[in-house]
Amino acid sequence: MARANSFSFLQTQSQVVSCDICGKKCKSRGGLKRHKTAKHGQSETRQNNHLTSIILSELVENAKQKVINSDIYPATIRKELSQYIYQGIEEASKEFQQLSSIYDGVLKNGDTEKFYGKFYSAIPLNAKKVFKGLS
Ligand SMILES: [Zn+2]
Repeated sequence: MARANSFSFLQTQSQVVSCDICGKKCKSRGGLKRHKTAKHGQSETRQNNHLTSIILSELVENAKQKVINSDIYPATIRKELSQYIYQGIEEASKEFQQLSSIYDGVLKNGDTEKFYGKFYSAIPLNAKKVFKGLS
C-alpha cells in the first residue's frame, strides 16, 4: 500500500542500505544506524532511539567537520574547531536535553541532515557549552 501523501515528503531517502553485520535492509542510513544501535550496539543503547553521549559525540564530530569545511562560518571559528577535540556533554545537562529533543524529532524523519542544520544553528549560541574548552 502507498503511504498517505502527507507522509511522502518524509521519504526523501529512498536508497536501501543494508547492515554490514547481518545484512538487514534498512530504508535509510538513519534507520540502519538505529538498527545497528539496537541490534549490534552496546547494551546501554539497545532498543533506545534516544540520543546517547556516544551518538552525540559521533554527531558532534561530523558536525565539526562540516563546520570546518563550510564558508558560512568565520575562519576563526573554523580554525579553532579544527584543533578542537570533543570532550562530551553530561547526559543530565540542559544542553544535552536540548540536543536530545532535536535528535528525537530528527529520528522520526530519519534525516540526520536536519539535525546538523539545527545543530549548526545552535552552535553559535551554545558553542562554549557544547564544545567545552573552546575559548
Ligand atoms: Zn544488523
